Amino acid sequence: MTVRAILDLKGRDVVTVAPEKTLAEAAELLSANKIGAVVVVTGERVSGILSERDIVKAVSRGGAAALESRVADSMTSTVVTCSPHDTMAALMNRMTAGRFRHLPVIENGKLAGIVSIGDVVKHRLAEIERESSALRDYIMTA
Ligand code: AMP
Repeated sequence: MTVRAILDLKGRDVVTVAPEKTLAEAAELLSANKIGAVVVVTGERVSGILSERDIVKAVSRGGAAALESRVADSMTSTVVTCSPHDTMAALMNRMTAGRFRHLPVIENGKLAGIVSIGDVVKHRLAEIERESSALRDYIMTA
């Protein structure tokens, strides 16, 4: 299964935030959308990614005042991305190697979706279920 197939099922909407917003505003976005990361954009350009872990780190270092600091100060600027042609196995490798749970999708140089580890696990489980049921059918009819 490819990233494109996952996006066809889950949709291509991405929650984004501007780098000059505060961590409190970003936290509100995460909570309202029930997600774990927002992509930071400057105009149409992806300039970073901010996950719940970055907010927790900032608060543990600077206390509640850190919530008034800018997203740009806590985001990860070197964003690892994927393309619609990537396979689920490639995504799992990239997430495991980078120790993160979100991969923005870039198509023709533009943000075209986001895949989380939750999406990968959900689709991989469905794939395993389909494979084992095909195997069961094969054994029953052999
Ligand atoms: P996560 O596991 O996605 O909550 O993120 C853990 C850490 O990795 C945080 O510091 C994020 O900013 C960073 N991160 C998340 N996704 C990516 C990504 N695709 N590329 C680079 N860094 C990321």
